[in-house]
Amino acid sequence: MPKLTCEVSASLLDALTRAAAESGESVDHIVSRALADALQVEHGTLFQVSTSGAIVEGLFGGVVSVGTLREHGDFGLGTFAGLDGEMIALDGAFFQMRADGSIHRAGDAMQVPFALVTHFAPQHQETLAPFVSMAQLLAALDARRDTDNIFFAVRLTGRFSQIHDRVACKAGEHETLVEATSHQAEFHHTDVAGTMVGFYTPPYARGIGIPGWHLHVISADFTRGGHVLGCAGEGITLEMERLDDFRLAMPETAAFLKADLSGDTEAALDTAERARR
Ligand SMILES: [Zn+2]
Repeated sequence: MPKLTCEVSASLLDALTRAAAESGESVDHIVSRALADALQVEHGTLFQVSTSGAIVEGLFGGVVSVGTLREHGDFGLGTFAGLDGEMIALDGAFFQMRADGSIHRAGDAMQVPFALVTHFAPQHQETLAPFVSMAQLLAALDARRDTDNIFFAVRLTGRFSQIHDRVACKAGEHETLVEATSHQAEFHHTDVAGTMVGFYTPPYARGIGIPGWHLHVISADFTRGGHVLGCAGEGITLEMERLDDFRLAMPETAAFLKADLSGDTEAALDTAERARR
């Protein structure tokens, strides 16, 4: 990240040092937040389109365009209208990863039924210890959260020795998420240089989000990628950002307005979004 050097009064520096000591927050974070507030730049905000409950019920019609998503973030994940593959957004480039293994840039007009995006501004960076499973990676990510109750964004960069991912196939008419992902494409890759984009959603947000970690991956040469089901890696760089502001764009489609979204989504999300045991 770029570095800012500037002169401030002794009293301002005093107050800043005190605030950092009392809150445990880094000076970088306090200054970034204050600047973002003063300059009215969106920060620490997760923008989500539609709800996990709607996706579980099979509401795969597009509700926003990629162009609109772009206004709310340069980094994120999601899917496309009709559950046509997986989305990953990195440094402002949006990609569609399709079940036939192809990857394309997603144009601004493409429609999206579900996505999470943010303007990624990590506060924390480190190299992770080697991990041999998804469970080990997620445990390492969990250990870096100081709370279960806000959202987090992570970027994981490096050479992954193994990646098991899936790409949703276009859903049939009236299929639910569990039905549609029962015919998903799964891929096992070894030795992939690439980037994972991920979000942590708090347990209390079930029904709106997918609780826990949700990771998508794309290779550095943009030829492979999907929704991560398993992985192993060594020397992977972790960058992490706390997201304490959450915005939900609720679809205004007739399908959403009329759907019964009162059901418990936990079992369906567990089947559809995690590796099958
Ligand atoms: Zn996913």
